[in-house]
Amino acid sequence: MSSPQAAAASAPDLPLKRMLIGGAWRPALSGQTIVVENPGRREPIGEVPRGDAADVDLAVDAAAAAFQAWSRVAARDRGRLLLAIGEALEARQEELARLIASETGNALRTQARGEARMVADAFRYFGGLAGELKGVTIPLGEGQLSYSRREPIGVVGAIVPWNAPAQLAALKIAPAVCAGNTIVLKAAEDAPLAVLMIAGICQDHLPPGVVNVVTGYGKECGEPLAAHPLVRKVSFTGSTAVGKSIMRAAAERVAPVSLELGGKSPSIVYPDADEDWVLDGIVASMRFTRQSQSCTAGSRLFLHADIFDSFLDRLVARVSALKIGDPLDEATDIGSVINERQFTKICGYVSEGLSRAESRLVTGGMPPQEGPLTRGYFAVPTIFADTSNAWRLAREEIFGPVLVAIPWTDEEEAIRMANDSHYGLAAYIWSRDIGRALRAAHAVEAGWVQVNQGGGQALGQSYGGIKESGIGREMSLEGMLDSFTETKSVNVNLALPPPPGAR
Ligand code: NAD
Repeated sequence: MSSPQAAAASAPDLPLKRMLIGGAWRPALSGQTIVVENPGRREPIGEVPRGDAADVDLAVDAAAAAFQAWSRVAARDRGRLLLAIGEALEARQEELARLIASETGNALRTQARGEARMVADAFRYFGGLAGELKGVTIPLGEGQLSYSRREPIGVVGAIVPWNAPAQLAALKIAPAVCAGNTIVLKAAEDAPLAVLMIAGICQDHLPPGVVNVVTGYGKECGEPLAAHPLVRKVSFTGSTAVGKSIMRAAAERVAPVSLELGGKSPSIVYPDADEDWVLDGIVASMRFTRQSQSCTAGSRLFLHADIFDSFLDRLVARVSALKIGDPLDEATDIGSVINERQFTKICGYVSEGLSRAESRLVTGGMPPQEGPLTRGYFAVPTIFADTSNAWRLAREEIFGPVLVAIPWTDEEEAIRMANDSHYGLAAYIWSRDIGRALRAAHAVEAGWVQVNQGGGQALGQSYGGIKESGIGREMSLEGMLDSFTETKSVNVNLALPPPPGAR
């Protein structure tokens, strides 16, 4: 299965069994650890502390202690430090990419290298924006100076999932710290190693306590972080169910939250888009080369009835050409699913699809029972054709490579089906007729719509969901200002009467 280039990623320089608190690498106070596995090989590759509430207390205290001094560093000086972190990350990009591939199972060539590039880029992007943390003046009259300041909020508690762990961590650390906050970030238990490597590089450039990274399980480590009284802002990326519990915890102390949650994003293909580049776009938007473990996966494919069968036939040829294999193998397009729990969950959905009389298996199905792919958690890209938008596979976020294709004939019906979801994260519209594509883009209920392309998010563009896909926007200047600063208004009376005794 693996080629000679597919050497296992080691974790050089990694302070294993340690997390970063107050500038020091510490084990969990309990001494307990979590073993991290390469899910493509089912081999242990590292061990991290199993942090709990006591460790979270230490980390939040360290972040709170560092806040005063950090928030007073001039914004562009903070930015310069972020730019230096970006340079250092770029120099170690390949090492970071191999670590990401090893712990997530995401293919090195198609996924992990791009993620590592984005990590360095995020620090550069936000570092360059530091001078834009500015307020406004309001013309209230000659006797008044009224202005606003964008002030840091305080200690940010951030929690990230495993599917793009390094990128998501960078997209929280960089804007939070740029805006003058300090941060305690909890890495995902399945993929904490790349995040710890990023933390180490941050630590080489920042004062102790500005960036702290804790590792542990959601209940034991994430929950106390979200509920901590000194955490003044919670930025969470993960499932909708956990996002709701984070929001409840933050509500107790009226702390603001940003929630980037799940999705079940629609792709609407018009009959004039029956072309090869659209097939490529559907493969990309479904994130098949990330095992579709993406919140923005276009997992509901609304295909016009006139092109339904022929389009699907050609899509199958595209999908079947993708090579599934060891994440570190240069030849691999599709790596492995993150862990046994997700693998079993995906198999459950596939099995349900196979047993449903109304649906037709177009390609894929259950994972192989023998051969090299049984070594790891390898799911097979699977497409079901069905006429119903109401069945479980068309409604629930599977977070695996299972695409449901549904025919339509009337545009209004297609948009109604696309919007018939409690999610509203991303959407994809495919048509050469830009007028109608934009009509659909405006009618579809999603935080992010792409027309005639299916790539990933871009820095600089505010990103986030509506409905149960989340609250708030990140990834942009506006996202940094809205999510990581408070606006303070100051009014100054310029029309004081002369002091007593003055002429
Ligand atoms: P998850 O919600 O189970 O876990 C995410 C993180 O939250 C992990 O670090 C976990 O340890 C922690 N956590 C779990 N329970 C917690 C609790 N009770 N309190 C505090 N923290 C807790 O999600 P996952 O399975 O790791 O990731 C997949 C989900 O993330 C999918 O739903 C996906 O759509 C979503 N996601 C969304 C975006 C986005 O930008 N909208 C991006 C990536 C992933």
